[in-house]
Amino acid sequence: MLKRGDVVKLVRVIAETHEAEIGCDECFEQLDIFAETELSGAEAGAAMPLVGDHLDKCTDCRSKFEALLAALRGT
Ligand SMILES: [Zn+2]
Repeated sequence: MLKRGDVVKLVRVIAETHEAEIGCDECFEQLDIFAETELSGAEAGAAMPLVGDHLDKCTDCRSKFEALLAALRGT
């Protein structure tokens, strides 16, 4: 498990890499980091706005995200 500071640094790098909207593949690649950021208490949507944006629009990825969150919380 990454420390909170490491997660924030990592997600900033990823957020700066992408400027346009992302698709489901890219969203899914970052979903575990997004979920861990969320669980660490950081603002995942602020750190990774493109993933947050995609999750708002895409019910498919949203349900994957919620399943992942539930799985992470359960361990
Ligand atoms: Zn999607």
